[in-house]
Amino acid sequence: MWGEKRFYSLDYFYRQKFGTKVARVTIDGGFTCPNRDGTVSSGGCLFCGAAGAGDFCAEKSLSVSEQIEVQKSVLCNKWKELKIIPYFQSFTNTYAATDILRQKYEEALQAEDCVGLSIATRADCLGDDVVDLLEEMNRRTFLQVELGLQTVNDVTAEKINRGYSLDVFTQSVLRLQKRGIETVAHLIVGLPGETLTDYLNAVRYVSDMKINGVKIQVLYLLQDAPLMKWYREGKIKFLERFEYIDILVQMLTYLSPEVVVHRLTGDPPWKSLVEPKWTTDKKQVLNQINQYLKEKNLYQGCRRN
Ligand code: SF4
Repeated sequence: MWGEKRFYSLDYFYRQKFGTKVARVTIDGGFTCPNRDGTVSSGGCLFCGAAGAGDFCAEKSLSVSEQIEVQKSVLCNKWKELKIIPYFQSFTNTYAATDILRQKYEEALQAEDCVGLSIATRADCLGDDVVDLLEEMNRRTFLQVELGLQTVNDVTAEKINRGYSLDVFTQSVLRLQKRGIETVAHLIVGLPGETLTDYLNAVRYVSDMKINGVKIQVLYLLQDAPLMKWYREGKIKFLERFEYIDILVQMLTYLSPEVVVHRLTGDPPWKSLVEPKWTTDKKQVLNQINQYLKEKNLYQGCRRN
């Protein structure tokens, strides 16, 4: 249905849209996060490491265009016909005055072979001036705004110190959609106290809200994350690989076939990873997910009414 895959992969989506291989190049725009600088809270989300989810970005002392060049030079060894989408990944990439945001986004758009822009942010960092700027960017290029949702359960959201309710997330998605901007939601499997019901509710929500893409990953522990305290106190247990794969496949079966799947497993920085160790072998996890879908004859959306 989607090439050889049983789910709507990001690679398939890009090839259909741009007619060639497209790679995202991750950028640290030098922003911080209101959930870490004391504006919303100073602790950060329970799982967030010191790099603010930007562990694979180039050195942040480099300019945006230099970071893009560094990453492109590596990618170009792998693919000859390559287009790129600069991806502002670290911390909260709409958390600054709009003239600063504009300057960073403009610099990224100048990159050779650039066909779009991806911006990761929080649902509570989208003031009207920011949304106006994003709308303008969206008129000029292919834009996707990624929002950290992690869970649709507000009790869990409090536990992980996300710092906003599901309603705030919903309103932000609707405001972006009203301006014609594509959205992507991040989900985490294995958060404290969550069960299969929560995970299926999350994919139903993403589907019903007509969010364009989803990133799903297992909860993992980094040495410098607040979750480390829970771990030392024996208050958190991490999923085994087979548990995660089983949950993930069930989630896929309830996910609308129109939602593009950006990620199916975590990609933790192995140097600071504490648990679960199996997440370092991403290729094997992806192979097993594909194998499981095939063996059970399941595919994305097959159980969705
Ligand atoms: S996960 Fe994102 S929103 Fe949460 S503390 Fe880290 S950078 Fe901020």
